[in-house]
Amino acid sequence: QPLLQVNDLRAKILESGVEILHGVNLTVNEGEVHAIMGKNGSGKSTFAKVLVGHPDYEVTGGSVVFKGENLLEMEPEERSLAGLFMSFQSPVEIPGVSNDEFLVMAYNARRRKLGLPELGPLECFSYLMEKLQLVNMKPDFLNRNVNEGFSGGERKRNEILQLAVLGADLAILDEIDSGLDVDALRDVANAVNRIRAPKNSLMMITHYRRILDLLNPTHVHVMDKGKIARTGDISIVETIETEGYETVAALT
Ligand code: ADP
Ligand code: MG
Ligand code: MG
Repeated sequence: QPLLQVNDLRAKILESGVEILHGVNLTVNEGEVHAIMGKNGSGKSTFAKVLVGHPDYEVTGGSVVFKGENLLEMEPEERSLAGLFMSFQSPVEIPGVSNDEFLVMAYNARRRKLGLPELGPLECFSYLMEKLQLVNMKPDFLNRNVNEGFSGGERKRNEILQLAVLGADLAILDEIDSGLDVDALRDVANAVNRIRAPKNSLMMITHYRRILDLLNPTHVHVMDKGKIARTGDISIVETIETEGYETVAALT
C-alpha cells in the first residue's frame, strides 16, 4: 500500500470558485523523495496546501489516501498528527509565544496521538537541544518569538527544525531553497538529509537543480496547468534546463 495515493484530485479557490487543480495523480511510497517542479502559477503550492487541508481551497473531485485513510475527511490538525508535515509557520508573527513553547506543544500533541506519554520540561529541553544540533542551529533560536523577526533564511531553518522535532511520514517542503545563498542552501539540505529516516518520504517543490543534487529525488514531476504533466527521474531536470518547462510538459 502506498504512503500517499492521489487520484484525479481537483480543487478550486473557495472565494472565487476558480478551479486550480484539474486532476492531479501522484503515488508516493515509503522512502521515496519526490520533486515537484513547474513554472510559476502551475499549481504546485495549491497542491501542497490542499493536501494539508488549507481553508482557502475546496476539493471538488478525486481522492487522497494517506496511510490507508481518507485524508480529505481529516481536519488539518489531524493530518499533521497522522504524520503529514508541511511547515506551519504563519506569515503573521505570534508575539508572546516562544519558538520552543510552540514546538513542545506541537510535539506533545503528536506524542499523544502516537500513544506515547508527553515529555516533561526537562526531557523536552534535551530533546529540543538534540534536534537543534542535528539541524545545526544555535540555542538562542528557541527563545525567539514564533516567526518574529526571522530572516528568510532563518524561517527556512526553522521549518526544518519543526520537521526534525515533529517527525513525519511525509514531509512537504515548498521552496525551502528559495532565497537562500549557496552556503545556507547546503546547510538546509544537509539538515534535511540528517533528519530523514529510511521509511520516511519527502515531497519538495523547487525550481532549482542545486537542492535536487543534494537531496537525490527518486522521482521528478513537472506540474503544468494544474496537473502533473510529466514524471521521470533526475534526468528530466537536464531537459528542463535546456528546453524549458513548456517543452517538457508537452513531451508526454
Ligand atoms: P505555484 O506554486 O506553482 O507557483 P500556485 O499554486 O501558487 O502556483 O498558484 C496557482 C494559481 O492559482 C495561480 O494563478 C495563483 O494566482 C492562483 N491562486 C492560488 N491560490 C490562490 C488564492 N488563495 N487566491 C487567489 N488565487 C490563488
Ligand atoms: Mg509560485
Ligand atoms: Mg508556489
